[in-house]
Amino acid sequence: DVTHGRILYLEDVSVSFDGFKAINKLSLDIAPGELRCIIGPNGAGKTTMMDIITGKTRPDEGRVYFGSTIDLLRYTEPEIAQLGIGRKFQKPTVFEQLTVFENLELALKTDKAVTASLFFRLDSTQSDRLLEVLHTIHLTGNASAQAGTLSHGQKQWLEIGMLLMQDPKLLLLDEPVAGMTDIEAERTAELFLSLKGKHSLMVVEHDMSFINTISDIVTVLCEGAVLAQGTLAQVQADERVIEVYLGR
Ligand code: ADP
Repeated sequence: DVTHGRILYLEDVSVSFDGFKAINKLSLDIAPGELRCIIGPNGAGKTTMMDIITGKTRPDEGRVYFGSTIDLLRYTEPEIAQLGIGRKFQKPTVFEQLTVFENLELALKTDKAVTASLFFRLDSTQSDRLLEVLHTIHLTGNASAQAGTLSHGQKQWLEIGMLLMQDPKLLLLDEPVAGMTDIEAERTAELFLSLKGKHSLMVVEHDMSFINTISDIVTVLCEGAVLAQGTLAQVQADERVIEVYLGR
């Protein structure tokens, strides 16, 4: 039951690449509805951690649980997506030739439905969901626009919307405001705050003002493990954190 206790639980997870420990006894957990920010210097293991959670990389040791009962290490990458873990990479990958509406529609289709796409129609629950997602991602007024004509920020929102169409329990996002204008970043913060509670989010970001707006707890990764954790103010005042960011 993912609504009780933690939604994500990593315990003593390690993985090595050619003898180099990219993740080194990493333990971390996320509560349901939490919006967790992950920071850390380059090479800290942030991407590798997300690769492990989504099944792209298999750890050498440790435990990875989704909810209290689902052992993620037993599942493949596509199965983990099906279980309700959505991932957004840094670069937006929307279908540029299709409209915003069609992109969201496509996100709902299973492989089978794509084959029969000429006959695919949204049922009323799906239509309601699509309209709700359009509103959430600030693109109600752009529904019939070709995705290729959107700004960089709007494309990022559309891709988040495509993930939301699947109603994921946990969303992993890699540097969501990179390359955005200040106004787009502010609206992205609003978007994330509106998702909090309904979904759990893990956000890797470098933009401290964005983190300050959205985060409850910040986890600092370094050398493949948790170096510090707390409010942004707490971790920014932590000597060890200051040292890894400034002291080299
Ligand atoms: P971050 O995302 O925090 O910058 P990464 O998870 O990308 O850190 O990388 C952690 C360390 O693991 C880095 O030293 C990186 O070079 C190494 N690494 C990551 N993936 C691989 C891989 N597939 N093969 C070899 N080394 C890797």
